Amino acid sequence: MAPVDSGLCSASCPQCGAVVELPPERLADVCSFCETPLVRSGGGAEGSDEAFDLVIPFLIPRERASHQLQTFLAGHRWAPEAIRRAARPEKLHGVFVPFYLYDGVARSEYSARVGVDWLRTETYTTRQNGSTVTRRRQVRETEWFDVQGGHVATYTQQLISGSRGLPQGEATQLEPFDLGRALPFAPTLIAGWVAERPNVTHSDASRSVAKQAADLENSVIQNRFVPGDHVRDVRNSTQLSIGAVELALLPVWIATYRLDQQVLRVLVNGQTGEVVGEVPRSPWKIALAVGIVALIVLAALSCLGLLGSLTSLIGRRR
Ligand SMILES: [Zn+2]
Repeated sequence: MAPVDSGLCSASCPQCGAVVELPPERLADVCSFCETPLVRSGGGAEGSDEAFDLVIPFLIPRERASHQLQTFLAGHRWAPEAIRRAARPEKLHGVFVPFYLYDGVARSEYSARVGVDWLRTETYTTRQNGSTVTRRRQVRETEWFDVQGGHVATYTQQLISGSRGLPQGEATQLEPFDLGRALPFAPTLIAGWVAERPNVTHSDASRSVAKQAADLENSVIQNRFVPGDHVRDVRNSTQLSIGAVELALLPVWIATYRLDQQVLRVLVNGQTGEVVGEVPRSPWKIALAVGIVALIVLAALSCLGLLGSLTSLIGRRR
């Protein structure tokens, strides 16, 4: 990683710990992850001499990101109004989020129980047209074996979030990014945008990528590698030898909103338009809907009551 002077200054969010890069022309900003106001201190930040290798530019413009969010929210009838307001184009924050890209070789030792199916032919008797007949049928049996062995796989450009503001679980949901379209880092590529410096340490990121590789290995061994018709009790121990590590800035649109004193958010992948986020249900909207239904039922019942008294009145007149 060759050091590159980005000419930017950093501010650390006192609320969530994200370290946001402020372009030279920006004196203050709000934290993209929690909306806490940030003022540039002029100092460096933790890990601030880290240099970026790659940038994926924003391919999804602001208006389209907003459109993607609105399409996503159209499927959530009970979404609170706050989230719909946050999805407006002018409310979105475009942020370059730092990611570590790991190359490595995963070596796994595994053991498992493997079931192999076979067909047994059996004879049986049954009644047909009043007489007993003998028939044959095939019955599926499974024989179980213990297997163990090794598996080696190479992993390239495994993405690990370098931002405490974007936990790994959410980062994984934002994938895939097309890293083939990443450009070598240049300050002009992020000028005018908010860019965050990495504040997840290398050792924490290495632990995350080792866990990610072990999970991937487990799934490959269980579903594709071990032979047999059934596989169970897979035990797997994976060691990841880490090779090259690169640091990339990836484009993310963030829509933050407040609900019951909490700051929540929905994310849009700035390269693919993929939307990620949980949408809470608005208790007010549900209460309103229940209220309206109750009023309709009450009105219907009172109409029926009125009809009943009218009919009995007419009946008495006759
Ligand atoms: Zn924050």
